[in-house]
Amino acid sequence: MRIHLTILSLLITLPLAAHALDLKKTLKEAAEKSGIDSGSLNSKNAAEPAPAQNADTQAPASFNWKNPSREEEVQLGREITGNLLGASPLVNDPALQQYVNQVGRWIASQSERADLPWRFGVIESEAINAFAAPGGYIVLTKGLYRKLENEAQLAGVLAHEIGHVVKKHHLKVIQKQQLVGLGAGMLSDKISSKSSKGNQTLDKVIGNGAEIMARGLDKDAEYEADRDGVALAVRAGYDPYGLPEVLQSLSATTDQGGLALLYKTHPHPDERLAKLGDAIGSRLDSVSDGKTLANRFYQIK
Ligand SMILES: [Zn+2]
Repeated sequence: MRIHLTILSLLITLPLAAHALDLKKTLKEAAEKSGIDSGSLNSKNAAEPAPAQNADTQAPASFNWKNPSREEEVQLGREITGNLLGASPLVNDPALQQYVNQVGRWIASQSERADLPWRFGVIESEAINAFAAPGGYIVLTKGLYRKLENEAQLAGVLAHEIGHVVKKHHLKVIQKQQLVGLGAGMLSDKISSKSSKGNQTLDKVIGNGAEIMARGLDKDAEYEADRDGVALAVRAGYDPYGLPEVLQSLSATTDQGGLALLYKTHPHPDERLAKLGDAIGSRLDSVSDGKTLANRFYQIK
């Protein structure tokens, strides 16, 4: 369940240069306000390698679109997430953010990309959705969090998003767009000044990234993230029914307004449940020691 807020589509129509300037500030403020270690959402995190050169523009002159490095992927995801947080800030509840990071990082540590600087957050939005950006940035809405009843369900949602990042679903779509547009880009680069080139290109990509979040991935990528998510949650010790239960609860929800975006960007929960059933079926029943951890689940205010 990725998030794809309407705000994102609005964002891409705003002047992107203005965004880039405010980005770091917005991120830092949002992080500080919500008590997340402020290093976690900006480029000064000691655990992360510093961006290629100019820390202020955050845009290396050349971004290797054919084969982006881990650092380039993280940078791209950080900027896309920064745009998102600029529009919908993190919920001002440090204990909540810490809890979601604990659960998320534990699950991510069981994945094939445990080495990414994984960051998790809950944003102020009543829409029901979740969102994954390249490099390990994962966000869910307060509206979705409120639907959850135990830690295994949270784990299921986060594991689905982690699945998108591990398989680089969004990154691949952005890469494809970039490579297609490269010919035209090179032409216009010749007539633009060298100093602004890097920023313009990256801003455009961040806009494209936001657009992909708003439009969604293809169905197969979603089904794959569902399968991978359940497997990953089980590997992390959770009850395998966490994600299926959330899908069931969404399917039964009467608040169709809050779900509009989710339905726009994801197959219907019933379809996803059916596909999960086909793929995993009775194998779920053999997992008997998975935890639901209802007592440890953080109740949102
Ligand atoms: Zn998804």
